[in-house]
Amino acid sequence: MGEGALSGRRIVAVYAHPDDESYTFGGCICKYTEEGAEVTVLTFTRGEAGTIGGGSDATPETLGEVRELELEDACKILGASDVRIFGTPDGGTKETEEGVQAIVDVLRELKPDILVTMEPHGVTRHPDHIAVSNMTERAFERARDDGFPKKFYFAAYPAAALNAFNAGLKERGIKWLDPDDPFYPQPADDQSIACVVDVMPWIDRKAAALIAHRTQSDEIINWLPEDMRGLFLGGEAFQRIHPPREKGEPAENDLFTGIR
Ligand SMILES: [Zn+2]
Repeated sequence: MGEGALSGRRIVAVYAHPDDESYTFGGCICKYTEEGAEVTVLTFTRGEAGTIGGGSDATPETLGEVRELELEDACKILGASDVRIFGTPDGGTKETEEGVQAIVDVLRELKPDILVTMEPHGVTRHPDHIAVSNMTERAFERARDDGFPKKFYFAAYPAAALNAFNAGLKERGIKWLDPDDPFYPQPADDQSIACVVDVMPWIDRKAAALIAHRTQSDEIINWLPEDMRGLFLGGEAFQRIHPPREKGEPAENDLFTGIR
């Protein structure tokens, strides 16, 4: 068990693919494990339908195994001690009773203080992301009788942050995804954001974790100029599902606000 103000506290993060955890939650994993919390990453797929780059000798047959190891490496860099893969098909993860129950089982086993998943549009509209978000919400409703998790958040990409990032790219003449691209991030309404955690102090570790997903070398982290990393990765934003946000409640800057 870690030492620090959050010793004995626990976070469960549920994602669809290896690397989702690092993009939307990597800085928080660094921050909270440094304070002594334990973080479990539950990933549904092995990412076996992803690209094979980075000079990797992975083949389509071995990519799932290779990406499982990459996920373990990334989580080690971030400080997450517990990495679990459920094993649904990459690109074919559907909302199922088994999937919901798998999350319920983890919640009942670990009784986390905090549960995190992607917001229901899946940030990039990827169908696996959407299925995992929906299953996590159903699992939360089922497992919460025990009083855990105390807080439940959706990781989201706020419109203001996405606009600032796009403006930064434009200034440098860097072309990225077209807003019509199927996986262009879906900006969340800025007013819906209930918590923004400043993860700039951990930006290098977050970038290292993303780069540890070596087969995914065409991902943004590998071409983004280093001095633009903060603009894209320096804040992690969340909508809060539980407890419900009160009218006029200001945004938190810490997932453990109120339960430290
Ligand atoms: Zn993904």
